[in-house]
Formats: sequence, C-alpha cells, structure tokens
Amino acid sequence: MSLFPDAKILDIDLTSGQVIKKTVPGNIFRLYPGGSALGLYLILQDMPAKVDPLAPENMLVFSVAPFTGLNISGLSRMAVTTKSPLTGTIGDSQGGGFFPVYLKGNGYDAVVFRGKSPKPVYVYVNEDQVEIRDASKMWGKVTGDAEALLRENLGDDKVEIAQIGPAGENMVSYASIINHCNRANGRNGTGAVMGSKNLKALVVKKIINTKPFDPEAFKPLAKSVKQKLEENECVAGLGEFGTDGDLEGFSDDGFLPTRNWNTGYFPEGAKAITGTTMSETVLKSRDTCYACAVRCKRVVEIPGLVDPLYGGPEYETCGTFGSYCCINDLPTICRANQLCNMFGIDTISCGATIAFAMECYEKGLIDTKDTGGLNLSFGNTEIIEPLIRMIARREGIGDLLADGSKKAAFKIGGGADELSISVKGQELPAHMPQYKPAVGLIYAVNPFGADHQSSEHDTFLIMPEDSIERKRLAQIGTTAEYDNPFVIDDDKVRFAFDSQCYFSVLDTLCLCQFVWGPSWELYGPDDMIELCKSGLGWETSLFELMRVGERRINMMRFFNAREGFTKEEDILPERLFKPLLDGPSEGVQLDKEEFYKARNLYYSFAGWDMESGNPTESTLRKLSLGWLLDK
Ligand code: SF4
Repeated sequence: MSLFPDAKILDIDLTSGQVIKKTVPGNIFRLYPGGSALGLYLILQDMPAKVDPLAPENMLVFSVAPFTGLNISGLSRMAVTTKSPLTGTIGDSQGGGFFPVYLKGNGYDAVVFRGKSPKPVYVYVNEDQVEIRDASKMWGKVTGDAEALLRENLGDDKVEIAQIGPAGENMVSYASIINHCNRANGRNGTGAVMGSKNLKALVVKKIINTKPFDPEAFKPLAKSVKQKLEENECVAGLGEFGTDGDLEGFSDDGFLPTRNWNTGYFPEGAKAITGTTMSETVLKSRDTCYACAVRCKRVVEIPGLVDPLYGGPEYETCGTFGSYCCINDLPTICRANQLCNMFGIDTISCGATIAFAMECYEKGLIDTKDTGGLNLSFGNTEIIEPLIRMIARREGIGDLLADGSKKAAFKIGGGADELSISVKGQELPAHMPQYKPAVGLIYAVNPFGADHQSSEHDTFLIMPEDSIERKRLAQIGTTAEYDNPFVIDDDKVRFAFDSQCYFSVLDTLCLCQFVWGPSWELYGPDDMIELCKSGLGWETSLFELMRVGERRINMMRFFNAREGFTKEEDILPERLFKPLLDGPSEGVQLDKEEFYKARNLYYSFAGWDMESGNPTESTLRKLSLGWLLDK
C-alpha cells in the first residue's frame, strides 16, 4: 500500500447523466499531486488530440490538492484544466476563495466533466450525494442573481458555488468561472467550455474535514504566520493596499503598460488608479481566502455604481481597464471589474482586447460603422460598460471582440495583428518584458499563453544578497546578482526555468504564490516541505517537488505538441522589440536576437528539442512520463 493517499475523482458525463466515483492510486497521485497536474493526468488518459475546445469531447477538470482545507494561510486554491478556446492549447486557470476548501471537504480531489447536457444544468455535491439538476431558471442570469436562485432552488444557504455568467453561456473565448461572485478562475476561457456543456454551476455543500497528518508538527507552522506577517513589510503592504499597491510606482519607472503597450508611462492617470488611492476612496473592506491572514482581496463600494458583492479590482484589472485604455477614472475601473464578475469574463483579456480595439479605432482600421456608433478613442470612459455588455452577449462589435484580440485582428486585417499584444492568443498581463525579460521569456514559452504568475519576476534579483528574497531564490538555484532587471543572460534563463518549475509546484499543490512563493512571501521552500510532511505525511524534498513542477510543464507541452504547436508559437509581440515612445523608459526595447537566443538556451535547459521546442523522448522518460509516448 502506498504511503501517499489515493485521489478521489468524481467523473460526470453530462450527455448520459452517468456519475462515476473512482480513485487514482497513491503511488500515481504522488507524481501528479493535485491542481492542473492531476487535471492533465486525467485528460491525457482519455482525451484524443485535436478535439474542438467547445465540443462535448473536451474534458473539463476542477481539481484541488490533497491537503486543501488545512487551516493555514494561502491554501485554498483550485485549478481548472481543459483545452482552451482562446489559445487552442492546454488551458489552465487558477482561482481562490472558499470553494476549493469545500470541494475537498466533500471528499473529492477532482471533478471531471465530459459530454454536453441536452439542457442547462447544475451539479450539486453533498459528499456521496451527487445530483445533476435543472438550471433553466438560472441560465441567462448574472452571477449574483444566479447565486440567489441556486440557493433558493436548493433551499440551502450553506453551499458554495462556482458558476459561469452569460459570457460563458455565450462561449466568449475568455469567459471565466466565478465563485463567491468575486473570485475567478479567470484565464484561458474555461468558462466558455463550461457553457458549451450547458453546465451553469458546480455547487458544493459547505463541509470542511481536512485534518493535518501530524497536528503537533503542523500547529507551529500554521501559527508562525502571525510573526512572519509582522516581520514582512512587503506582504503587510499587499494586505493593506492589495495587488494594485505598486501601480503608480510602475508608471514612475516607465513600465506600466499604457496606451495598448505603446508606452510604459501614465503620468495623467497612475495616481488616480493606484492601490493607495483605492484604499483612501472606494475601499469598503478587505476580504480573504479561507484561513488566510494576508487578506489581500479588495471590496469596493460606490453607491449606485459598484456593489461590494462583486469584490474589487486587482492590479491587473486596473492596468488593463486603466492604463492600457488610458482610463484614469477609478470608479469606471471598479464598475468594469463588477461587470466582468457579473457576466463571468476575464478582466485581463477583456480590458486588453478593448485597448486593442481602441488602437484599431484610432488608426482607422475600424470606425463608428463597425462599433455601432461608439467612439472608441483612448480614455473614453463612456464606452467601457457598453462594450463589456456587448462582448458578454456577443452583440455588434462585441461578437468580434469576444474571441480575443488575435482572432479579431485576423478579421479586421490591415495590419491589426501588430496591435494584438498577445502570446498564443492570450493577452499579456500588466508586467512589461522590456523591464522583466525573464518574465517575457516565460510569457513566450508558457504552454497556455502569456502569464505573469508562472515564474518569479526579475526584480527580485536586484535585492541585496542578504535579503530574504535572495536567500530563498538561492535555495532554488539562483545566486546571480544584478544591478538592474533588464539583463537576459545564462543565469537569468536558468532563473526563469527554475522559478517556473517552482511556481508549477505551487499551482500543482494549489498554494497561493503570495504566501508560498519562492522569494518575498511568508513561507519559503523549507516551509513547503514541512507542510507536505506535517500536513500530509509526505516525506518529500525540494528535489522531488521541483520534479513535480517540471513534470506538469512537460505534460502541458506534450498536450500542445499533439495539437501541432511548435516553437513557432513561442514568440512575443513585435511591439516589444520596438522602442517605447515616451517617459522614463523612452527608447527602451527588447533585443530580438538576444531574446531568441535566450529562448534556445531555455529549450536546452528544459530538455526540449531545439527544432520544435517540444519535449524529447528522454525528457519525458526522465520525468516518468514515458506512458505519454503511447498516446
Ligand atoms: S494572499 Fe490573498 S489571494 Fe492569496 S490566499 Fe491570501 S487572501 Fe487569498
């Protein structure tokens, strides 16, 4: 018998209505111990290549980690894995809140959805009781209204709900899955896949029953968070001002993506939309995920305009709807955030796609005949709400923009593709590769498109050698020191790859990177190993955990290779190789030759074929993934 627990899987065929409970044996679960690693393992067992992302054959997996639900900060996350309608690659989306804890509390590590229901349904899980129920009354409703109807329908308030809004129902390519009305599995269009299956919601009974393996050893680890918070100014600041706390500073340095990435400088608006301004004006309270002492989530309220039920904007949302679009009005951004949570839309791709449309409009590639009379000039606050509504309902120009900037650019033509700031069709988050080239490298090679949470950022390598950041990064192999973040050399490439593997462990174990990340966060690598031991009885090491992270990345690349992806898609938008237009970063650009040289070095570090950029047979076998070669 394995020392590692078996994974409990709920497998639901929405076409036939069949519900199967099965297990993945502990010795296998240990190789894919949760999150999208487990999701990928299940998908690659059964799903053939080249499936249409919106066809019934696409599989959709919600998954957590074996110790999700323990009473410790940063441990309530969930992955959703599927083939993405936005990118055509593997789709991976992480989200937090309370839902993950309750999903695990009902006894499941993963819920798999296959097929397509003949009519709108929701799935209700109360431990062994699993019901597929009619959702006709909730279909078409925004998330807040649907939540109320679902609770009424069940006659039970003690449930947590992960659902799609109208955008998912209309299969907007970047539709999200929303829980608690304000937490999103936002990226990669996982909500559209849910919509394609006529699945409105997954509803779980509020049950918590995860217990630590060794309570005496676990207790001091959980309790040390108080002291760690007092000692760590960065994390304390994250709690006080949210992820948006640094926005103004990014603009001052010239690296806040502005005007659809033409410049990194937003002097006319950064102060108005930064986290301190949010705290001083519209912030009603701070929210948290289950058991997390950091409490970084924003709750904003503007009477008559913004309902606190829908939370508040993160840094990325303030960037994409703010500086990307030259919008310097915080209430407009808060309203946009609410609308995205109501309709179930990823704020990053939505705001970035609107910024793309604004530049198309200013360059004369589209006009008021295309926009239904809307003036899409940069900075026009009036058009944000109508555009979000049109995108969610696929009305007018909203239908064009609902498939993301890359696909819209192909339809618009006339050079519009140069204005789509995306990788593999997924719009870039608000961290500039010109400033953080290692992040840019991961944007390019990441299997599911540009993502800022898949590796550590370059800026931590300019911290003093005796700082906690540098000490922890040394533990995962980076000892190089830099005077500035702009460099991309051999050490930086290794830093990019190693930190990507580490972040991949976090996403597998469903740990919040603000709490468990590899540099400035509360708990470091040693704590993560201790968590595995005292929380689960898993006697592991950093070596095993890094292999877990590397394995997940390689499974994703293998999935993409089956779909026909090669290194041709591992590219950054051309705009990043051109000089920025003004401000402190005027003239700064990425060096193309240097960047693609670094990409080749990354492939060799990763053990991927230099011609195709895909994992080699020996790399797959090294990672215990030889079974994939038969697929
Ligand atoms: S740090 Fe923020 S996002 Fe992470 S678990 Fe805590 S409250 Fe949630």
